[in-house]
Amino acid sequence: MKPYDYLIVGSGLFGATFAYRAKQAGKRCLVIDKRPHSGGNVHCTCIEGINVHQYGAHIFHTSDKTIWDFVNSFVPFNRYTNSPVANYYGKLYNLPFNMNTFYQMWGVAEPEEALKEIDKQRAEAQAALAAAGVKEPRNLEEQALLLVGRDIYERLIKGYTEKQWGRDCRDLPAFIIRRLPVRFVFDNNYFNDKYQGIPEGGYNKLIDSLLKGIDVRLGADFFEDRSFWEGLADHLVYTGRIDEFYDYRFGKLSYRSVRFETETLDTPNYQGNAVVNYTDRETPFTRIIEHKHFESFGQAVYENPRTVISREYPAEWREGIEPFYPVNDARNSDLYKQYQTLAQAEPGIIFGGRLAEYKYYDMAPVIGRALSASESL
Ligand code: UDP
Repeated sequence: MKPYDYLIVGSGLFGATFAYRAKQAGKRCLVIDKRPHSGGNVHCTCIEGINVHQYGAHIFHTSDKTIWDFVNSFVPFNRYTNSPVANYYGKLYNLPFNMNTFYQMWGVAEPEEALKEIDKQRAEAQAALAAAGVKEPRNLEEQALLLVGRDIYERLIKGYTEKQWGRDCRDLPAFIIRRLPVRFVFDNNYFNDKYQGIPEGGYNKLIDSLLKGIDVRLGADFFEDRSFWEGLADHLVYTGRIDEFYDYRFGKLSYRSVRFETETLDTPNYQGNAVVNYTDRETPFTRIIEHKHFESFGQAVYENPRTVISREYPAEWREGIEPFYPVNDARNSDLYKQYQTLAQAEPGIIFGGRLAEYKYYDMAPVIGRALSASESL
């Protein structure tokens, strides 16, 4: 008899949630992770008493009450509301695109005036596409121009997106931009979801609670001794890169990565907001995260005389650095489909999460997927 029912490769949100549910169902689980810590990219490091989102800002949001209640049963989530600010050559705009943004952009104070301006610019985009005989937007640029018009596209989308993805907006799929809502009210809340927040005390609390009482081995690389690890359990849950799992037999998938430059500053409040996006093309980083604002609000910000900021520099992924975003262009989507076909032919193995499903997942849907994958246990 093997010592475990499930070997779970990767201790991120998918792996940790699945392990929790499997343990509850009486299964013996072993979670392994090649990093020296658990939690995957939601892992936080404490610097100067501040929970630093080591792998980029993670803001939890969902409209699914089951998922919200699930995560809150491990750690209470605070009332953080994401309201990023864009810096375009020193001029600040509120995000997502709302009445504040339109006021800053065109000086319009009334929704009707803003709508008129946007409609005018959208119509120009529509006419240009029609003249070219195009029915559906073929790429991110066309999609953005149709959604918000040229001014917003050029100041708040184009530079940021091209830096983030390292590709021209005309070579990117339209769906990436559908994440950006437009609204004609003065509301800087980035997400439309019913619930959002950050775990009080950071994400490690959530991961540690999920993994409580479960065998976890850190610094353990599945691929260094695959047959040894596979021999330990009857079933496998895999959350790593799917192309690596299949020895890259169809070719390598592309990922975008991010390099973080984290600095501690001797000031209590550097930028007055958790997230400031630099939307021009010249600034080499895409955003600066000031981590303390995820968990302290108002005057409480000044209780700590120091602050920690991270500049995010997007980069093409290569072996040895962390993959962050799947690149869902035509080539990679087709390649992924080939791997997916192999995965579907192995019903005994569960593939889950951003890397194994090659999907631009948010946190809540990952948990949702792990909950449903563990339903039949
Ligand atoms: N985006 C943009 N300008 C911004 C912020 C985002 O054009 O100031 C676009 C960009 O294409 C990006 C997408 O919106 O890839 C999603 O960004 P978001 O910050 O929501 O995603 P995250 O990187 O946090 O997953």
